[in-house]
Amino acid sequence: MTTLTNPFEIARETLRLLAARRIPPTPDNYLTLYQEISGVKTVDSAFPEKQLRSLASALPKVSPDQLRLARQLDDAVKACNWEDYKNRLTEFVTALTEVQKLGWSELINDLIRQWDAKHVGLTVARKRESLEHILSSSATNPENLFNRLQGLLRSWGQGRENETTSGAEPDSAPVMAQATNTLPSSAADLLPELRELFAFTLETAIATQLVESPALSNDAKILAKDIRTAVSLTQLQDFLTRLKRFAFKLELLAEDQAELRHSLLNMLRLLVENITELVLDDRWLHGQIEVVREIIDKPLSQRSIDDAERRLKEILFKQSQLKASLADARDAIKHMLAGFVDQLASFTDATSDYHDKIESYAGKISAAHDITELESVISDVMRETRNIQINAQRSRDELRSTQQKVEEAERRIRELEHELEATSDLVRHDQLTGALNRRGLDEMFDKEVARAKRHETVICVGLLDIDNFKKLNDSLGHDAGDRALMHLAAVCRDTLRPQDTVARYGGEEFIILLPETPLEDAAVVLSRLQRELTRKFFMHDNEKVLITFSAGVTQMQVEDTQASVIKRADEAMYQAKKTGKNRVVTA
Ligand code: GH3
Ligand code: MG
Ligand code: MG
Repeated sequence: MTTLTNPFEIARETLRLLAARRIPPTPDNYLTLYQEISGVKTVDSAFPEKQLRSLASALPKVSPDQLRLARQLDDAVKACNWEDYKNRLTEFVTALTEVQKLGWSELINDLIRQWDAKHVGLTVARKRESLEHILSSSATNPENLFNRLQGLLRSWGQGRENETTSGAEPDSAPVMAQATNTLPSSAADLLPELRELFAFTLETAIATQLVESPALSNDAKILAKDIRTAVSLTQLQDFLTRLKRFAFKLELLAEDQAELRHSLLNMLRLLVENITELVLDDRWLHGQIEVVREIIDKPLSQRSIDDAERRLKEILFKQSQLKASLADARDAIKHMLAGFVDQLASFTDATSDYHDKIESYAGKISAAHDITELESVISDVMRETRNIQINAQRSRDELRSTQQKVEEAERRIRELEHELEATSDLVRHDQLTGALNRRGLDEMFDKEVARAKRHETVICVGLLDIDNFKKLNDSLGHDAGDRALMHLAAVCRDTLRPQDTVARYGGEEFIILLPETPLEDAAVVLSRLQRELTRKFFMHDNEKVLITFSAGVTQMQVEDTQASVIKRADEAMYQAKKTGKNRVVTA
């Protein structure tokens, strides 16, 4: 059937079908049939974009909630997503209903009571001033208004002069302005300083945080300038209005950023999960990936992101190396197999040739008339048989050498993997315990020391050595010793803060860096670690094995180098060993 394109023809056909199918001629039915015939579904009819957009634009956009709703509705219209549109509107109206449930009548009763009651140091004029201020600044947000009125009444009840405003609200500036009229002169003297501090906060703390939103950053700078110069009530009121708008925008931005962070984390999670799928055979990679997963499951910080990034880089590097060497080995094996198949084919050719020839020789033998004829046939048969023997031998040799080459290639792969783990310049983590190795420690040490200098904070270094580890190895075996080391590293990771660093310094020695920690606290941290080890036992063959360690801990001094500070910790650790082990000594 050809599709009609002429509107007149489509219309005629639609009417004809309505009659033929005995469908009631309603506008909807007409439209459905019209679309069926023309094969075109107009967006307008499926999604009333124009109407929904006009509804969204007619809604008020004063409070942050309303602004947010407008943005969400706009997104839904752009995506032609009716479900989204409906859900957003429903959520908004439901939230409004919640607001209506607030106990307004009780609050107003309380207000009337407190208005008439006498409060020390509170005149009616001052009450009116505070009330008017709250009414004008929170009028657009009923929930906010309710909470602030409640706060005001509470402060009257306690006989305090000023209402308590919740710290983060955008209305704190006018409270300041209001204070000019009400505060005693000594407190009013603080106003210039407060004003300057406010401007500084806007200009330095807030504007610099907004590098990715230049317009908002600019707004913050302008506001800072204005609060320095605003003196009259009108100027302050104007400032207040703009500050509120600014705060709304900040709130929206914060939401966007939270969303962004959420999606980035999801992406990272996806990546980590898929890397695990790709490298089923490599246990080292699995361990590393597990660590990354743990890192991103905890609250994010710059340190944890740095750590995750470092580990991911190692994983990617190692994987690319392994892939390349494995691909080489696979190619080599393929090549050898191809050669072998060729050999096999020529061998089969030769044997079938042999059968043909033997058959023809058999013919010749039965047709032979004398012994000389037979002699020549026999020598032919002998030659062919010898040929086939040589061929078979060659194939067997070929097969054996191929086998050897495959074994050689496999050995090389194992060697390569080993070498890679041992010598890779990029590996910064100990493969057994997942703690940093020496290289990782060097890097982290420099970073933490620089950070401590920048923030003028102290940093402590602990060195711990497992007690009687040789005995544990001797009695339970080297494998158990290995698992004991892994256990200790895991308990360290669980017990210490995310910003602390654990590094494997030698066989059964670990270094712990404790940023922003004075010496006494560092000793407490190490003792807590000892306690944790008595709670989280190391299990061997279903038996609890107690692991203890001796530790030395010292605080980094200005003149210290990594070597000098570790030497001091080592000496303290030695003291701990000498005085009975299982203890922490400070230096
Ligand atoms: P002390 O209490 O005085 O520290 O005694 P200790 O036995 O712990 O100390 P010592 O230095 O005599 O022995 C350390 C042992 O640690 C010797 C070594 O075999 C073992 N070791 C070092 N690295 C590893 C490792 O990676 N795995 C295992 N299982 N053992 C290790
Ligand atoms: Mg030791
Ligand atoms: Mg030891």
